[in-house]
Amino acid sequence: PDRQGAAQSSDPRSRSENPNMTVSIEQIGEVAVVTVDNPPVNALSQAVRQGLLDAVEALDADPFVKAVVLTCAGRTFIAGADVGEFGKPPTPPHLPDLVARIERAKKPWVAAIHGSALGGGFEVALGCRFRVATASASVGLPEVRLGLVPGAGGTVRLPRLAGVETAVDMVTAGAPIGARTACEAGLVDTVIEDDLVAGAVTFARTVLDRPLPDALRDRSVAASSAGFWDAAAGSVAARAKREEAPLRALACVRRAAEADFETAIAFERETFLALRGSAQAAALRHVFFAERAATRPPELAGVIPRTIGSAAVIGGGTMGAGIAAALRDAGLPVVLVERDDGAVERGLANLRAIFDGAAKRGRMSADAAAERMAGVIGTTDYAALADIDLVVEAVFEDLDVKREVFRRLAAACRAEAVLATNTSYLDPERIAEGISRPDRFLGLHFFSPAQVMKLLEIVPTKATSPDVIAAGFALARILNKIPVRAGICDGFIGNRILKVTRVQAERLLLSGATPAAVDAAMRAFGLPMGPFEAQDLGGLDIAAFQRKAARARGEKSFAPIADRLCAARRFGQKSGGGWYDYEPGDRTPRPSDVVAAIIAEEAKSWLRRDWHDDSIVDCILWPMVNEGARILADGTALRVSDIDLVKIHGYGFPRWRGGPMHYAQAYGLDKVVDALDALASEGLADPPCDLLIAAARHGGFADPSR
Ligand code: NAD
Repeated sequence: PDRQGAAQSSDPRSRSENPNMTVSIEQIGEVAVVTVDNPPVNALSQAVRQGLLDAVEALDADPFVKAVVLTCAGRTFIAGADVGEFGKPPTPPHLPDLVARIERAKKPWVAAIHGSALGGGFEVALGCRFRVATASASVGLPEVRLGLVPGAGGTVRLPRLAGVETAVDMVTAGAPIGARTACEAGLVDTVIEDDLVAGAVTFARTVLDRPLPDALRDRSVAASSAGFWDAAAGSVAARAKREEAPLRALACVRRAAEADFETAIAFERETFLALRGSAQAAALRHVFFAERAATRPPELAGVIPRTIGSAAVIGGGTMGAGIAAALRDAGLPVVLVERDDGAVERGLANLRAIFDGAAKRGRMSADAAAERMAGVIGTTDYAALADIDLVVEAVFEDLDVKREVFRRLAAACRAEAVLATNTSYLDPERIAEGISRPDRFLGLHFFSPAQVMKLLEIVPTKATSPDVIAAGFALARILNKIPVRAGICDGFIGNRILKVTRVQAERLLLSGATPAAVDAAMRAFGLPMGPFEAQDLGGLDIAAFQRKAARARGEKSFAPIADRLCAARRFGQKSGGGWYDYEPGDRTPRPSDVVAAIIAEEAKSWLRRDWHDDSIVDCILWPMVNEGARILADGTALRVSDIDLVKIHGYGFPRWRGGPMHYAQAYGLDKVVDALDALASEGLADPPCDLLIAAARHGGFADPSR
């Protein structure tokens, strides 16, 4: 149960109110209840900090008050810093001073937590002598996700409260933990099942009868086991790769364990301030705001989405099974339609393999996996779709096959049902041609593996109605995915840029680089895989099929080496070789003499260059940015930040780089334009497009989300 308004408690005596009521105090007997009310998430704005500071002073001076409960109105405890103050000079009172003042209060403070106590919110709670929470509450220090460390004593107080292991886990990974786990770890004194404020007041009264525990600043950190710090450094570094904040956060916890309180606080502050101005923090802030903008598109403000309470997936192959798994993970009942009984069985087996795999890796219990499967009906019969709210088609990438599926869907489904295609490259307008009520049709482009990848490209046609587009965004929220609206073009946003990446990767080979050198450079930049390894993993045949289709349409498609590899039936790992050779049963890519010979033949008319990591990255990245600018110019993307989200959530572009467009802006668009001109003069890239040149001249892309 979440908390109820403090005003409903007995014996209210309202006093010392902040004029704007951001922080108010009322007294229940000898316990004062301080309530923060700063919708929507009680962020630690300047007014909240000032209000709390005033409250500590007033309550310390009040002889009638014996204990204080700190609680929040609305749906959550203080959920963190005020994002409106991000990147701006801080204004007093500063959070570390406020937390220290609460900690030095003459009366014990009890933080009463519901919703989330995150970041600065949790640090305020750590300043309190006690913490109580509802069962559904969570606490955490997610600062590393913004490229920071906690800045108000979190890394110093947490190990004093819960030991170094818990502190290292929470601070370096940034993941919040639930109230019950927090209680077991000693972060929360008790979980309150009923009314939070009433329970907290009762708790406060009981502690008055006992000797108070020391404030965290006066406690020491329990000794850690031998080798703990080395092991922690190894595992944090492995997880963080090139992200700075997690290792810096680890250093803060270590300092907290090894130095006195004040020294550790000063070290944490210094680290916080150094990181706040870092390129990584700026990139991660950019992504944070980009995600907020993407999930609440202003163009859909006020549109009520069509309801999605049940779903069907047509096709149970790679994508269909993944999409069905994502829908089941979100609790939606799913009907899986395949073309014949054998295919139904294979589709269900694909789905079962996903859940069993998750259970094997400890991501869900065996019971949960069974429950997921129990919510799936496999069938060949479209009559099962009569009452379904959403249908996602994921059959073969073939216009005629898809059209036939939608013809049948249009007849079988309700007029209000949302009908979506997961096509990668076909034109959704053409797929929808001739169906009745085309207002209910749109593209919902998932990324593989669909139960994992966060990106959902939402691709309306001219006929799609706003409430259907809004349903796409609502679905993304239900599935915990990041929605990005994309216009119709070959490949939408993500695959259109991917094509450019591949062309550039081949140009690199033709001008003297090797697949291994290109892949290594892109990995060093921060991508999980280089372009050639990725193609070998996914298979070269799909792109070859696209090129064939494009050429049949009279379009050019540049992939001389990939074409040769496909002609030699080198389709990647699945065929035992692609850009690399593979030993049977071993996925380690080994440089291939066959491929080297093909490259040498194709490269005869090309000038060789010496490539190094940086120039390889430039040769791939700046043309991606150029394509991104074209995508912006022709309206395929609405916001430049959406392009960053597509690359981050669909293709593993490092979040801490902020996405290609942010990275280019931070690097300097004028330098990007120069680099593209230089590459173009050697025939290694297209020249910069007009929008990119204009953005370079104006110092950045115009972004309506800012
Ligand atoms: P797949 O070959 O693995 O699966 C296709 C499934 O559709 C098969 O199980 C097949 O039996 C079934 N099917 C074919 N015709 C059918 C019909 N008339 N009725 C019912 N089922 C039918 O293909 P996939 O990789 O899952 O791709 C499916 C779609 O998703 C394609 O449009 C593809 O472009 C798109 N897509 C693929 C990826 C990817 O990475 N594989 C990513 C995004 C989108």
